[in-house]
Order: sequence, then structure tokens, then C-alpha cells
Amino acid sequence: MTVLVIAEHDNVSLHVATRHAVGAARLCGGDVHLLVAGHDCATAARTAGRIAGVAKVWLASAPQLAHGLAENVAAQALELLAQEAYTHVLAAASTFGKSVMPRIAAGLDAGQISDVTRVVAPDIFERPIHAGNAIATVQALDAIKVLTVRPTSFNAAPLDDTEAIVQDMTPVDDAGTARVVAVERTVSARAELTSARVVVAGGRGLGSGAGFTVLEPLADALGAAIGASRAAVDAGFASNTLQIGQTGKVVAPALYVAVGISGAIQHLAGIGDAKVIVAINKDAEAPIFGVADYGIVADLFDVVPALVTALQED
Ligand code: FAD
Repeated sequence: MTVLVIAEHDNVSLHVATRHAVGAARLCGGDVHLLVAGHDCATAARTAGRIAGVAKVWLASAPQLAHGLAENVAAQALELLAQEAYTHVLAAASTFGKSVMPRIAAGLDAGQISDVTRVVAPDIFERPIHAGNAIATVQALDAIKVLTVRPTSFNAAPLDDTEAIVQDMTPVDDAGTARVVAVERTVSARAELTSARVVVAGGRGLGSGAGFTVLEPLADALGAAIGASRAAVDAGFASNTLQIGQTGKVVAPALYVAVGISGAIQHLAGIGDAKVIVAINKDAEAPIFGVADYGIVADLFDVVPALVTALQED
């Protein structure tokens, strides 16, 4: 058995989700290989080779692979899958993985198993359904199992000092169906939402974009990433990159502070692995209190500044 993991990177550094994906790949059994498809991405490939358990890194470098365009990365992976005997191909269930993997599955004429949270056996996997209210155990019958894996459900494989062999492969031609016109990077000093140890998230209760900024001093005091409910995103209070939940990001922090969030099941689907949940809501009947470890029934515009003052006094 040999498992191919599609690496997510920015040509220089690997996204930590890739190490979580390798953690899942190791549980499938057999060797683990990584595909690093990018441009001038030898540094990312070398780091990939240092992930514990990775036996080989395939490196495809060309301008058409520079931006991780799903059409080209999937074609590169399919080329490799046609040349080498793999039993599994997987990636993290991130925006990148969710875009690349269905194309690979279609190319293989295989069924994809999405958002895997547990590897039961090499061909049997668990995945959440109904917004995380039930867990389905599914068996993959295809010769090559195509998976996306939920990063927060698998430990990140550590980096070690041994470097796996990095083997160049011929890059595929540009599929020509999409091109990157511009890249706008959000620069933030805050921790990345999906890997943050503390997350402060705001909902519709914040009332406006200006109201949403009340969370910033609290996030600063806690060293937290900021997240949002879908209602807050849809209302334009926060960027959609901050959305947590069924159709947003899945987080697994040690501490999750939900501010002005009611606790709809679609939101809870994104915070099931949070260790400690604190809820601030003026409605004592809000469903968020059903999952919270600590709850404060009060107006958030009173409580949040008071918490910041208390934390600063500490
Ligand atoms: P509300 O439900 O309006 O809650 C606002 C809360 O703020 C209330 O509980 C209120 O008591 C409290 N509040 C108001 N003012 C104050 C104050 N001054 N002080 C303290 N508390 C106050 N939602 C997500 O979050 N993520 C998803 O990924 C997601 N995916 C979805 C997918 C589908 C297919 C569907 C149908 C829905 C999805 N939703 C998702 C939407 C979800 O159903 C809810 O509508 C949404 O989570 C509600 O957001 P909210 O809690 O911010 O808003």
C-alpha cells in the first residue's frame, strides 16, 4: 500500500494542514509519498521531505503550477497516479483540497470520501453527516481511495531531521481553463484560524462591522484568532475567510469564545473539537449555552470590555 498526499503550500512554506493530512495518511498503512506541485518550490519540497513518515516527495515545478490552480494540480496528480501504483490519494479538507480532490476523483472515475475524521481500516472511514449530528462509517470500494481529511481530527506529523528523497517529475501542460489574474493576500499578525489555540468568534449579536471590532482587544489580550458566524459574514460584519461552521472553517482550539452567537447546528459543526467553550449571550435560552462549558448571560458590549480590563490587570 502506498498513499499519495497532495501538499498545500505557497512555494516556500508548507501549510500545516499538509502535516495533518500526512498524519491521516500514516493511519491508512504503507508508505506515504507527497506531491509538491508549484513553481520554484524546492524549499517547500525539502520541508515536505522532513515530515516524519514521508518516504518520497514528487516535485513538479512550472509557472502554470505556481498558484495551486486546481485544474493543473489535479492534472499533475492524475499523471502521477497513472505512472505509479498508489492505493490512496488524499489532501486536507481545506479550500485547496476541496477544489483539487473532486477533480482527481472524477479523473479516476472513483467516488470521493470527504471530510474523513477517522481511519477505521485502509478502506473504511468515518465522516460527519447532517452538520456533524451523525457519523457515517463508509467503505471505499474503488481501487484507489480518494479522500479529503479533516485536519483537526488528525495529529500533525512532526518534522524531523531526516530528509526523504525528492524526485523531479515533468510538469503537465497548462490546462488553459483558468488563470490567476491577481493575488490579494490578507496580512494579519493573528494566529491562523484553523490552527489557533484560542479563537474569539462573533455573531449577528455584534450588530455591525463597527460593533465587530469590540472583539479585537479581547483577541489581542488572549492571543486569539478571530472567527465569525455565517450570519455575521452575510451581514458584512466580517470577512468570509473568518466563517466557522458547516460551510466555513472547522476549528479545534483549546478555548473558543462565542460572542453574540446563538449556536445554530451549522455553526456548532465547526467547533465540535473545541476543548473549552465560553459563550456570551444576552438570551439565556440561546442553544450555545447547551454546548458551552462556561456561559455569561449579559450584554456583550458590557462583558467584553470588562473581560479585557480584567485580563489586562492580570
Ligand atoms: P443569530 O442566530 O441571529 O444569533 C445572534 C445571537 O446574538 C442571539 O442569540 C442573540 O441573543 C445574541 N445577541 C444579540 N445581541 C446581543 C448582545 N448585545 N449581547 C449578547 N448577545 C446578543 N452558520 C454558521 O455560523 N456557519 C456556517 O458554516 C453555516 N452554514 C450554514 C449552512 C446551511 C446549509 C444553512 C442553512 C445555514 C448555515 N449557517 C451557518 C447559518 C446558521 O443556521 C445560523 O443562521 C447562523 O449560525 C446564525 O448566526 P448567529 O448566531 O451569529 O446569529
